[in-house]
Amino acid sequence: MELPFAESWKIKMVEPIRKSTREEREKWLAAAHNNVFMLKAEEVYIDLLTDSGTGAMSQGQWSAMMLGDESYAGATSFYKFESTVKKLFGMRYVIPTHQGRAAENVLFSYLVKPGMVVPGNAHFDTTKGHIEARGAKAIDVTCDEAKDTQLEVPFKGNVGLKKLEKVLKENKGNVPFMVLTITNNTVGGQPVSMKNIRETCELCHKYGVPVNMDSARFAENAYFIKTREKGYENKSIKEITKEMYSYVDSMTMSAKKDAIVNMGGFIATKKKDWYEGAKSFCIPYEGFITYGGLAGRDLEALAVGLDENTEFDMLQTRIHQVAYLAQKLDEYGIPYQRPAGGHAIFLDADRILPNIPKEEFPAQTMTCELYLEAGIRACEIGYLLADRDPVTHENRFGGLDFVRLCIPRRVYTDNHMDVIAAACKNLYDRRNEITRGVKITWEAKLMRHFTVQLERLGK
Ligand SMILES: *Cc1c(COP(=O)(O)O)cnc(C)c1O
Repeated sequence: MELPFAESWKIKMVEPIRKSTREEREKWLAAAHNNVFMLKAEEVYIDLLTDSGTGAMSQGQWSAMMLGDESYAGATSFYKFESTVKKLFGMRYVIPTHQGRAAENVLFSYLVKPGMVVPGNAHFDTTKGHIEARGAKAIDVTCDEAKDTQLEVPFKGNVGLKKLEKVLKENKGNVPFMVLTITNNTVGGQPVSMKNIRETCELCHKYGVPVNMDSARFAENAYFIKTREKGYENKSIKEITKEMYSYVDSMTMSAKKDAIVNMGGFIATKKKDWYEGAKSFCIPYEGFITYGGLAGRDLEALAVGLDENTEFDMLQTRIHQVAYLAQKLDEYGIPYQRPAGGHAIFLDADRILPNIPKEEFPAQTMTCELYLEAGIRACEIGYLLADRDPVTHENRFGGLDFVRLCIPRRVYTDNHMDVIAAACKNLYDRRNEITRGVKITWEAKLMRHFTVQLERLGK
């Protein structure tokens, strides 16, 4: 008999989690204004809010933390971190920051000015926030295939090259850089092919526009290139990573994702002028350029995490678990963005709750229902997250409305995946009874989904 697939690690330390009753959850969700970001973690049974900073570090990372050099300037830990980044990505200049959005803040403070245009394959919310807050415009140039959730194509995160060229042509001299996000988080953790990375960069460079890789899940992207793109089957994840970054000019990284640390990020670039420019924003916002808001021990763990998570077995274990959950959902006929992405399943709320109009936020409604059903905390990646148009102040209903089931790295077992799938099935079975959604009672101007307050209609 062929041996089944199993994890490439074993468990050394456990953290108890606690179930609750539906009655308790009703009370807690109301107190949280029907926004799961406002729940206390202890009110959650299985936490799928995000895979950001929620992974389980390895024994290699924990032991590296003991070597942290906490010198204010020139710490040994910084040089270890810097050399790992240089080696993996081939970037000359490296600035640590406390997380991904801090890297955006520092770099964009130097590069983005009012009236500018920044194209990208579905900018992540903080990325878009940092562009729009500076009076610039973020234009989505993701390929059209990404919009059809039931279409099975291997690289649904790709850039639509025609769309990109149109933006570059119409905004000559006004595009500071293009953001290439791998994997493409917003459309479902969908990968970008090496071919598309190369062609996107060629096109941008033809117009004199540099490319910044938004790199949170670069290793998962490399895994998909290895397993789906012809010609890369026999290349290592590290070799693929090196090639992906050979085409771009810089990167901003949320190390809380593919470096499997609880906090951390960085900027790396080949451009000396960008480094010099960004440096002067790092000091007031993040701290001196050899620590950037991080402790020496954090830099140690980050360096080890980057190195370990660019090995095939680690990525295979992770992506296998996401695919396992997807296969269960397939058995139950529950629609999600196909094929399953790297870090999460994105449930297609519009299809699951057809009775809820857009104006009543189907994905947010479903997020509340899933929590009430089983204490599972998912995250709305849809019309709430899309914020209002900065000019017209209308809700943006043009995109997709997803409930993201985001899987932390090395944290839950496949038994937990079974519970999640069963909860989704129960909800799906009573989908026709769910006829009213939610209404906003309070919202922030920017990145409202974190703090929005909602009312459940018909309750
Ligand atoms: C998480 C993420 C960010 C922001 O990083 P933080 O560490 O959360 O600040 C930026 N871009 C992408 C694609 C992300 O997934």
